Amino acid sequence: MDNNSFNPKLWLSENKSAANVADSGSESFGAFWKSVSAPDNAQASTPISATASAIPNTAKPATGRSRTAFDRRFALALTASAAILAGSALAAWLTRTGPVSAPQASAGVAGDTGSNVQERAVNLAGPGQLVGALIEAGVSAADANAAAAAAAPHLASGSEIRAILVIIPGGAGGGLLQQLRATRIDGSGVILARGEDGTYAVTPLVADVTRKIEVLRGEIDSESFYTSAVSAGLIDTLIPEFINAFSYDFNLASEVSPGDVFEVAYDQEVNGAGEAIGQPKLLYAQLTTAQKSLALYRFQTADDGSGWFDGNGATTKRGLMRTPVDGARITSKFGMRFHPVLHYNKLHGGTDFAAPIGTPIFAAADGAIEFAAMKGANGNLTILRHDNGWATYYLHQNVFAPGIAAGTRVTQGQRIGDVGTTGRSTGPHLHYEVHIDGERIDPLSIPTDEASRKRLDGAALQAFMKERDRIDTARAQGTN
Ligand SMILES: [Zn+2]
Repeated sequence: MDNNSFNPKLWLSENKSAANVADSGSESFGAFWKSVSAPDNAQASTPISATASAIPNTAKPATGRSRTAFDRRFALALTASAAILAGSALAAWLTRTGPVSAPQASAGVAGDTGSNVQERAVNLAGPGQLVGALIEAGVSAADANAAAAAAAPHLASGSEIRAILVIIPGGAGGGLLQQLRATRIDGSGVILARGEDGTYAVTPLVADVTRKIEVLRGEIDSESFYTSAVSAGLIDTLIPEFINAFSYDFNLASEVSPGDVFEVAYDQEVNGAGEAIGQPKLLYAQLTTAQKSLALYRFQTADDGSGWFDGNGATTKRGLMRTPVDGARITSKFGMRFHPVLHYNKLHGGTDFAAPIGTPIFAAADGAIEFAAMKGANGNLTILRHDNGWATYYLHQNVFAPGIAAGTRVTQGQRIGDVGTTGRSTGPHLHYEVHIDGERIDPLSIPTDEASRKRLDGAALQAFMKERDRIDTARAQGTN
């Protein structure tokens, strides 16, 4: 029920007043949010890590680093599979200088006198593309089919494949495929070496995957936490997790300033070349401002799922969440104001958080859904009744989360819906209310209830401290 235009440049930026926000347009919103939320884009365009041991972009062909590891392993495999290429041709392969002249064909390359040995790297969406790619690279149909058949048992369908081909061009039916190395991102796959009879010796490659903890530190710039995190090298899918970790303790929109520092540690699977596999997972988040400093560790408890804990094993969860929406900015506080739509002074009975459509809304505390439906000017409204009798209201939602209906039990921090602009609303935002004994009260006036904070104890605390120490050890070894 409010005037909320959303400017992505101000989103997550510090100390912006509601007046600033109202001035700004929303045209650039779509593109910005896409860049924030789309993991596919992130993979293709964002450096995954800025540490000294930078993980190469998975979409690119092999980098210098992976080449080294690749060559080492390939050299071994090549030896093991009775190398066909000899002398300078092998050296050329190992240094990957591209097409080179083989001064003289070796004894093993019959009928190839004076030809060039060519090496090519191609990326394939799956093993089904292998025959076509080989033929396109100049390999004879006979070799292409024989090689693909030999490789097929070692390449699961549906996963991306990098193929490196060594071809001796020429011949009526096409070139000879001397070597093929086809691998998935996890390093598994196969090496083929062509024998004189045209059959292929097969050397399977097993997956080579390890987990590592990456550590990044950065400083808040003059624009926003988001831009600061990206320039520090944080993959942007981790940014909402970082914001979420601090949702009880900080409002990142209003409580951070240029010069404040943050640190993250995240878990990442990497292949033998150090390239990232799959999505990273945030393990540690630290934020230090002029006012306060907080370091949080992610820990999985037996009963309560994954949560964030301080170094002593105290959960961040307590009372009502300060910001029951992901990465939002307060645009209108509780109190009397001139209503932008109705044009008279009226009590604004809640807090408005501006955020893009689709931004997750969280249950502010454990409770049971009392109402979840469209309701006039409220738009899509959820009423959540908490165990102490209080209720929280979430207005103008775009959609309810799956399974959210009257009677559903939810836990604090659970996604209950998405930000929208349904009902009487002038822009995407969450209007959030707290009702105590039937009265609406200012959500920001509710004191943080330290007493309600749970602390791990017993075996859970022991397990937590072990995990905390593991993360801290990795942080101490962080190079930047
Ligand atoms: Zn409102």
